[in-house]
Amino acid sequence: MRAVRLAQIGKWLEKEDVNIPGIDVSDVLIRVAAAGICHSDAHYRAGISKIDRLPLTLGHEVAGRVEKVGSGVTYLSLGDRVCVHYLVHCGSCEFCVCGLEQFCRSVQMIGKHRDGGYAEFIKVPGANAFLLPDEIPFEVGAIMMCSSATALHALNKARFKAGESIAIFGFGGLGFSALQLARAFDCGDVYAVEINPAKLALAASMGAVAIDARSADPVGQIKEATDGKRVDVALELIGSAKTMHQAVLCLGSLGRAALVGLTAESMSIHPYTEFINKEVEIIGVSDHLATELPVLIELARSGKLRFPQDALRVVDLDAGQINAALDAVQHSIDHVRTVIVPLK
Ligand SMILES: [Zn+2]
Ligand SMILES: [Zn+2]
Repeated sequence: MRAVRLAQIGKWLEKEDVNIPGIDVSDVLIRVAAAGICHSDAHYRAGISKIDRLPLTLGHEVAGRVEKVGSGVTYLSLGDRVCVHYLVHCGSCEFCVCGLEQFCRSVQMIGKHRDGGYAEFIKVPGANAFLLPDEIPFEVGAIMMCSSATALHALNKARFKAGESIAIFGFGGLGFSALQLARAFDCGDVYAVEINPAKLALAASMGAVAIDARSADPVGQIKEATDGKRVDVALELIGSAKTMHQAVLCLGSLGRAALVGLTAESMSIHPYTEFINKEVEIIGVSDHLATELPVLIELARSGKLRFPQDALRVVDLDAGQINAALDAVQHSIDHVRTVIVPLK
């Protein structure tokens, strides 16, 4: 089969002909219909995030049709449309038995620790394949298993509930999903903090209060817009110490800041005035859980979570096109997501 693989850190991905993976009794073989190109993939290629072995087929955002079913997989059939949960876990360690598989003692991320979806076929445990309803295109099914799933996990970790106001720092793929998911949970006012004019316009067109962080301090703007009340929940999706601090400062009493963006920078907090006094919480968010995915899939099926067609770009399973898309992801600030759709 065709696969586009990372053979050397810092180098372009290369096309390779490899064997179609054999499956174990608990696995399924999926014919890939769509594989999202994610920011993390650009990080693996550049060596910013460490990977264990080379060559490796990247791609953790995958949807397709079941091509082969292991004898131990009873809930999937040949030809089923599925999307893939990217964390392969043991199912028996102390974290797995509590449904917290992102901390599994032997967790493997698809497209990082094992071969991913930049290929014609992928092997995954049956437990990682979720039925994808006909209403959801494969391209959407693929990308929602990363950014939208993490946005949902962030809202869950922040214990977001109906009627609460929310500030979303960063209006890319995650922010875009977070707004729609917050809406699906009957949120109060939504404030989208951005510096990119196109993203600010998009947020406003979706009914959020656009907070232009270039014009003035976003915390002051949110304070003013809420008559001093501030917000119940803030999501930091950018990965900067500055916006993380702002996410904490824009919280009202008992507010929760969920930090999703990755950074190596340190953040300083004034313990009494910014934190203890208001009993605010700062919550770390990492990946998402298998148990959250049925809710996500249902929201996408019912149309509450959508991706505008112009926010998706399609390329073939072609090394040149994929490398160009990874370059764009690495440098670009637009909100267009590229999805690999292998031509027959
Ligand atoms: Zn991703
Ligand atoms: Zn485990």
